[in-house]
Amino acid sequence: MNPFIELGIRHDIVNAISELGFEKPTPIQEQSIPVLLTGSNDFVGLAQTGTGKTAAFGLPLLELLDFEENYPQALVLCPTRELCLQITNDIKNYAKKMGNVQVVAVYGGANISDQLRQIKRGVQIVVATPGRMLDIINRKAIDFSKVKFVVLDEADEMLNMGFQEDIDSILSTTPEEKKTWLFSATMPTEVRRIAKKYMKDPFELTMGEKNTGNVNIEHEYYIVRARDKYAAFKRIVDFNPDIFGIVFCRTKIETQDIAEALIKDGYNADSLHGDLSQQQRDKVMKRYRDRNLQLLIATDVAARGIDVNDVTHVINYSLPDEVENYTHRSGRTARAGKTGVSISIINAKELGKIRQIERGLGKRFVKAEIPTGFDVCEKQLFSIVHKVHNVQVNEPQIEQYIPRIMEEFKEMSKEDFIKRFASIEFNRFLDYYKNAPDLNAPLEEGRRFERGEDRGIDRGNGSGKSEFTRLFINLGSVDEFNRGDLLGYICNQTKISGRTVGKIDVKGVYSFFEVQNADVDKVMAGFKEADFKGRPVRIEISGEGTSENRGGGYPRREGGYNRERSGGERREGGYNRERSGASGGFRDFSGKRKEDRPERRRRF
Ligand code: ADP
Ligand code: MG
Repeated sequence: MNPFIELGIRHDIVNAISELGFEKPTPIQEQSIPVLLTGSNDFVGLAQTGTGKTAAFGLPLLELLDFEENYPQALVLCPTRELCLQITNDIKNYAKKMGNVQVVAVYGGANISDQLRQIKRGVQIVVATPGRMLDIINRKAIDFSKVKFVVLDEADEMLNMGFQEDIDSILSTTPEEKKTWLFSATMPTEVRRIAKKYMKDPFELTMGEKNTGNVNIEHEYYIVRARDKYAAFKRIVDFNPDIFGIVFCRTKIETQDIAEALIKDGYNADSLHGDLSQQQRDKVMKRYRDRNLQLLIATDVAARGIDVNDVTHVINYSLPDEVENYTHRSGRTARAGKTGVSISIINAKELGKIRQIERGLGKRFVKAEIPTGFDVCEKQLFSIVHKVHNVQVNEPQIEQYIPRIMEEFKEMSKEDFIKRFASIEFNRFLDYYKNAPDLNAPLEEGRRFERGEDRGIDRGNGSGKSEFTRLFINLGSVDEFNRGDLLGYICNQTKISGRTVGKIDVKGVYSFFEVQNADVDKVMAGFKEADFKGRPVRIEISGEGTSENRGGGYPRREGGYNRERSGGERREGGYNRERSGASGGFRDFSGKRKEDRPERRRRF
């Protein structure tokens, strides 16, 4: 018999979840479903993310509510819009084969009248973020007086995000006798306090040890000099060709810097932080989910509630201040029984912090060595070999070209052919890594190199300095350029290689970018007669002088990795759109130059 049936779940639900690939319950489902199905307990469930909590409460709700009636009977509160949509969608999927199950998602940043309309039509399960829920309650647009169950999902996150008061107000509109089910990954004192406040003698279930990260996560740390951090990070990424990772930074600026540097180095990366609009956020998340991004660079807050399966690595580019945050970060990998690695790149000074996190988690971290250039090349080479081995050949499509291809290679031996084929990708890495230095920081040197060297990202390749000139261009974000677009435009216009372009600062009606001194004339010539939508493009040497030790040198990814950029679709979209309101008029930029200095680097 299907083990879910044994737990007491009925056939039409079991059939639906079988189609989702749920063959047997996860441990928390196994233990909580029988308790929750009685409908007579308050409940506290502590379990790491990715352990299947949504079905643990979702399936019992579907068993317990009366779907012949169309009034709100269950309210699920969760911290983020992402999660809200996810839970709504999950419950709808479980209920796919049942009749008349109405689930509505209520969350901020979206049209409220749609949500009000759905509520009006009749709904049994409301899944909501606290802010918007309270708004709707205050409009007297919903009646919670007959609610039987309230679920507080990711209670710790909701408290972290300051929803305590909203939750109080919302719960005060629900009846005394309802049952409250609380789920959380961690149990800080605040969660304990609300559990006490809202619940009577709850049934408590703790999966695994409290506060320990998921058992399937390996924790590693690398000790590097602060100035080598970015290079070390890249080396780790290159050593893991199939990485699908989330990189955590402490500040918005850091996420942007890293994402910018990675994009420039040819990786599929983008940043997710609090200053993005909901739409921008959704777009980034969609690209990540769809695997068009390989690396998502995020702040702690922005990454809350991110629920993407098969994340292979969590990388702590900066360590979090709190052990709790480390648990949340690392919990983004190793979901649903998979394994994952949580990597911290630290300097010797931060070793104490690692020990502190180890103590908090009750887990040993493994000190790992930054791979050598040779290691990376070897790894990449065999990644290519495996790709060739596993590629799906589209027989009907490729067939017509085979004779010509055979003709081309008819003189070549199999050995020679294989060698050449493998070299296509391998050479790029070999070129870049052939003289790569050892990036592991000798521990005993710790004290000496710490001071004054914490310069954040170092985009240099360590092999010799290049001199850069900073140029002004009278195009900026009002022309719908972002850094990537502008880089594309410059390269297109001047035929210089993107990898020789240094820092790009996109401002409102103008921007700055750095090129190698040797390229200045070429850039000037390239833009000589240029006009952008009828407006002459003006390039000037900025009074800033030059900066050293920047610029590319990293191998850029070809083909698949660069899809977004090489396709050029984004660029064209940006260029051809009508210019937005702010027209013409070159703002005086001379007084602003000072603040364009990359002072922010000193911040971390
Ligand atoms: P949590 O809320 O604990 O973080 P989720 O409920 O989001 O975890 O589940 C994590 C992932 O595991 C989801 O993709 C979900 O579809 C999957 N999952 C949940 N239960 C099962 C199960 N019994 N069998 C297989 N996959 C499951
Ligand atoms: Mg969850």
